Amino acid sequence: MNAPGSLADTIQYLQGVGPKLLPSFQKLGIETVWDLLSYVPLRYEDRSNLPPIREVREGTAATVIGRLVAVESNPTRSRMVIQKATINDGTGSIHFTWFNQPWIQRKLEDYHGKLIGYGQVKSGRYGLEISSPEWELLDEDLGAENFARIVAIYPSTEKLNQKNIRTAIHSAWKKYESQIHDDFPPEFVRKLGVLDLKSAIRELHFPDSLRSAQEARKRLVFEEFLLLQLALVSKKIEGVQETGIRFPIQELAEGKFKPNPVSATKVRTTAGRETSVVVAREVPNNLFESDADSGRNQQPLWEQIHEILPYQLTGAQRRAVEEIFQDMSRGFPMNRLVQGDVGSGKTAVAACAILACIRSGYQAAFMAPTELLAEQHFNNLTRLFAPLEIEVETLLGKQGARQRKKSLDKTKSGEAHLVVGTHALIEDPVIFERLGLAVIDEQHRFGVRQRTALREKGAGNPDVLVMTATPIPRTLTMALYGELDTTIIDELPPGRKAIKTHWKLPSERASVYASVKSLIDQGRQAYVICPMVSESEFMMSQAATELYEYLQAHDFQAYRVGLLHGKLKPVEKEAVMSAFAANELHVLVATTVVEVGVDVPNATVIVIEDANRFGLAQLHQLRGRVGRGSHQSYCILVAEDSSDEVRKRLEVLVETTDGFRISEVDLELRGAGELVGTKQSGRVDFRFGDLVRDAALMEKARSCASEILTSDEFPEPKWDPVRSRLTEKRHQMALLSIS
Ligand code: ADP
Ligand code: MG
Repeated sequence: MNAPGSLADTIQYLQGVGPKLLPSFQKLGIETVWDLLSYVPLRYEDRSNLPPIREVREGTAATVIGRLVAVESNPTRSRMVIQKATINDGTGSIHFTWFNQPWIQRKLEDYHGKLIGYGQVKSGRYGLEISSPEWELLDEDLGAENFARIVAIYPSTEKLNQKNIRTAIHSAWKKYESQIHDDFPPEFVRKLGVLDLKSAIRELHFPDSLRSAQEARKRLVFEEFLLLQLALVSKKIEGVQETGIRFPIQELAEGKFKPNPVSATKVRTTAGRETSVVVAREVPNNLFESDADSGRNQQPLWEQIHEILPYQLTGAQRRAVEEIFQDMSRGFPMNRLVQGDVGSGKTAVAACAILACIRSGYQAAFMAPTELLAEQHFNNLTRLFAPLEIEVETLLGKQGARQRKKSLDKTKSGEAHLVVGTHALIEDPVIFERLGLAVIDEQHRFGVRQRTALREKGAGNPDVLVMTATPIPRTLTMALYGELDTTIIDELPPGRKAIKTHWKLPSERASVYASVKSLIDQGRQAYVICPMVSESEFMMSQAATELYEYLQAHDFQAYRVGLLHGKLKPVEKEAVMSAFAANELHVLVATTVVEVGVDVPNATVIVIEDANRFGLAQLHQLRGRVGRGSHQSYCILVAEDSSDEVRKRLEVLVETTDGFRISEVDLELRGAGELVGTKQSGRVDFRFGDLVRDAALMEKARSCASEILTSDEFPEPKWDPVRSRLTEKRHQMALLSIS
């Protein structure tokens, strides 16, 4: 009579739902039959052990079945009414008791069948009893299905109890079981060794064993991860099929590069499609004049690098540069993420890429998330590139109209070889003569949209290098940046002493500041971070000002103290920062504006007040302000021992300076969504999966996705459903602007 229906049907007409419960289901995010069938239990209870009543023992959890032999209501002295049902299975009796639930008595009065109940057994005033059991009339349709077995316990609400959810799921299963089909070809599922979808749904709700329940969840998680990875990897493959700039790295390395007239070369991409590749071309105007004069292009690239870097690259930096050069010399656009802890020397790595780009006749852009950081990079890079006569410009939000026009003009004419800025770089009026490389620092502070916007400033497809100083666990990298190639810089420049971190209680503050003073007396400098964390920049500045005034008047009366916060005018900020950098200030009291990038090697101690208010990643970043020179550095976390979570956070900081290790703990404590921030959380918003618990599955999904997408049989019709879900996923990611 009824058509079989589809899993996209509303749950409204299911037995056990109805108009009254529908809103409660919707609150849980359950609208369709599929939502309901894929509603994952919180946990399972093993009720498969069904002892005769005689063997039931006090203090255990048990499931019992027996005939209902008596029902009664007894008032208590506290004017409550206890409902009591007695059941007997021939070996003994046990009581179920409830408080103030007269409807139970009414329901049971004329019933003479069997009851089944589950709960904690105790010895009560009537003998053995289970109070407030989960129970059913065994003769009803559902009965034993929910009891003498492993039972799923669902996330429920006040209005929606376990029984409601189970009833609905049971009727959905009965009616729609035949509609559950795998989108993946059966032989693929078999080869993977995961459950097929229908078995997975069955085992999810009515498992044969705890193990099969786990397998069921695993199947759903894997499918979810696989779809994400299919979307990311397919995007990556498309990127490889695009035409990019082929930088003449080899020629540059040999000092033999001569800018050529524009030429296009046919290359065969990995997908076997022919595309043309633009080779660096002759530069018509001023970009090369000075270079030609000074013969810079006859000087091998690495020689130039050694000329500007006052130190040897570490092994990890060198590897990173080589990977980047390899990307740059390919015919498709580079899309690479460089992850490295604070102080690992990412700027030097970026500088090498920038130099290669400029020497090939292109411009480079360098985008940083804050004005402070952009300026600092601008100053550093200007200084770094000065011996090579490279023109560095800057574009900042705070620039005056004249300065800005000058920068825009130089960017447009190509006179500026490198433009450093904030997101002012991606605004409309900014036009590059020929942007070849976009470097994005602290990528996690930008959205994907900004990355794309900067890329679109290029004439063709510039290479993109993104850097992040917030190390994140590998699985999270795969979810967030799966379309990028990744390089990890896992080595700090030599001679650094590991920062010593101490956790002190607020009551020990006086001794903390006394030791800071003794370091200052040895010639070092100190940061003191104000604890105020607020949405309001004003409040933060206020709090920092108070702390500053207090410290100047008390602990640091005899010392020069400076103040840095977000409400200062740019010139004021600059004045404070340069005074601190020049060792004219002993102590810098600051808000978290110093979190990223600030680099004063003589500052060797950072005191973080009320450190419990900061997240792990932020504390790690703050700590990275010290330990930048050759002196032993210290980080002192001042915080109350207020909770387990706080303790865990502070202890991991005391224990290690390894950013990757710290990020793993952070992920466990806070979950991925919190960790990555709102801009990118859409990608880690999983319905089934959990990046900590299911890390291995993400790895597997990643390799599986590559395998599928590059396999010869992927175009076959049997993969149609997967292809259309992939398209849907890509579409959805684009809408969330996290593509
Ligand atoms: P990151 O951006 O990764 O936090 P930076 O690029 O700011 O790190 O480098 C941190 C500091 O280390 C800078 O003062 C830089 O000059 C220095 N540095 C970078 N690479 C090396 C190296 N190979 N040897 C010595 N010092 C280095
Ligand atoms: Mg940096």
